[in-house]
Amino acid sequence: MSYTVTNPQREFIIDRIRDERNRQLGKWGVQHHTPAEWVSIAIEELGEAAERGNKAGVEPIGDKDPQLQLAAMLRELVQVAAVCVAAFEDLSEQSPEITSRRVERLLDERRL
Ligand SMILES: [Mg+2]
Repeated sequence: MSYTVTNPQREFIIDRIRDERNRQLGKWGVQHHTPAEWVSIAIEELGEAAERGNKAGVEPIGDKDPQLQLAAMLRELVQVAAVCVAAFEDLSEQSPEITSRRVERLLDERRL
């Protein structure tokens, strides 16, 4: 089954993820990690997004402006996505066969 849902923001979001991925590359260069390390890095960024999301849900206290916290949460989510792209790039480069159609079919067959 195939379907397409169009969202006018999608290209803007994908551009932000691409920009963030390039920023990370400029800052740290090409990184190589184990699968578990990549997941830990992504979860660390997701934790930062959760913290901002929690702060966005409260009344303004000091510098905890909900709108600013919400914007910061979205920026953290972009960082999560960019880390996921980096993980995909690194791990698929180490093991190119994992992105093959044969493996995709196997994942579907085994419902993984
Ligand atoms: Mg972050």
